[in-house]
Amino acid sequence: MSLEFDLIDQFFKPLCSPMQKGDVGIGDDGAVLSAPENHQLVVVTDTLIKGVHFPVDTSAYDIGWKALAVNLSDLAAMGATPAFYSLALTLPEHDAEWLSQFAEGMSALASQYHIPLIGGDTTKGVLTLTVTAQGWVPVQQAVLRSGAQVGDVICVTGCIGDAALGLKLALGTLHAAFKESLSVTEQQALLQALNRPSPQLSMADALRQYAHSAIDISDGLLADLGHVLTKSGRSRALPLGADIELSALPVSDVMQRYISENRDWALPLTGGDDYQLCLTVSAENYPLLQAACSVLDVSLTAIGSVVEQSTVRCLFEDEEVDFSAAEGYSHF
Ligand code: ADP
Ligand code: MG
Repeated sequence: MSLEFDLIDQFFKPLCSPMQKGDVGIGDDGAVLSAPENHQLVVVTDTLIKGVHFPVDTSAYDIGWKALAVNLSDLAAMGATPAFYSLALTLPEHDAEWLSQFAEGMSALASQYHIPLIGGDTTKGVLTLTVTAQGWVPVQQAVLRSGAQVGDVICVTGCIGDAALGLKLALGTLHAAFKESLSVTEQQALLQALNRPSPQLSMADALRQYAHSAIDISDGLLADLGHVLTKSGRSRALPLGADIELSALPVSDVMQRYISENRDWALPLTGGDDYQLCLTVSAENYPLLQAACSVLDVSLTAIGSVVEQSTVRCLFEDEEVDFSAAEGYSHF
């Protein structure tokens, strides 16, 4: 048997479970999958390239985890329940130790949601991972970017900015004095935020029930909220904008210290890789969503509101702070 098939059998076939009776996973030309009644299929794809989407010295385990996590985060933002995933893997060489760790990282996250790896492709080249994930939503209930309405409360789950701070730490670009002020535990937490994002999947039902729109924060809050406002504004005569209260942003203690010491709000606003959700909900439904989140142990913070204006205004103690030059992550 060729090395390619050996590799698939050894490292990836074991991840092809649980499968429904009668379905076909890894090993044939295609996977054959049963669909639940009254649901629509949600399909997402995300690629990670070495040195572009993760630092070159990231561990194989973390790469495996993150390749799947960023996709599950897209499903979370749609209000979908994850069902399957596939993997297009481009490897520079056959490295059994690396592959074993990579598969373990992916499997650790997949098993939390009981989703099987159902196929993929394996090629040689610069380390690149493309995961495609599928999930289900009840018919016509997917949460879209285009549903935000004037007066909606803008909310964010979890904390934002730690992944961006973790990236600075991993790349060695943090100010020396600030880095030295970080305890070992704090450093680990920042790297964890960067390398092991947790997709906000537990709130899918609440999101579908209450939210008007949602997006996952992959490129930075301002950029991603901007996508929601653009999409939601398209069907209207007047553009949609937002007022954001900076003092309300949910940030960790470390991030708060970073902001105070560096007078830099830009990092939590424009730093990518958080994989939290930014969503909008009517003022009426906000308390209901908040209550549902607290039952699920998901922290949800209101940070502003959708307004009829052409920009996103960031306010700090009623003063407008200008972030017009700050942009989220862009590939080109
Ligand atoms: P094909 O000849 O159709 O391109 P392959 O030889 O690439 O098929 O793959 C054989 C089987 O192994 C297929 O079922 C495919 O989905 C699966 N597969 C290939 N690479 C991977 C991978 N990296 N992870 C999971 N399954 C894979
Ligand atoms: Mg192939």
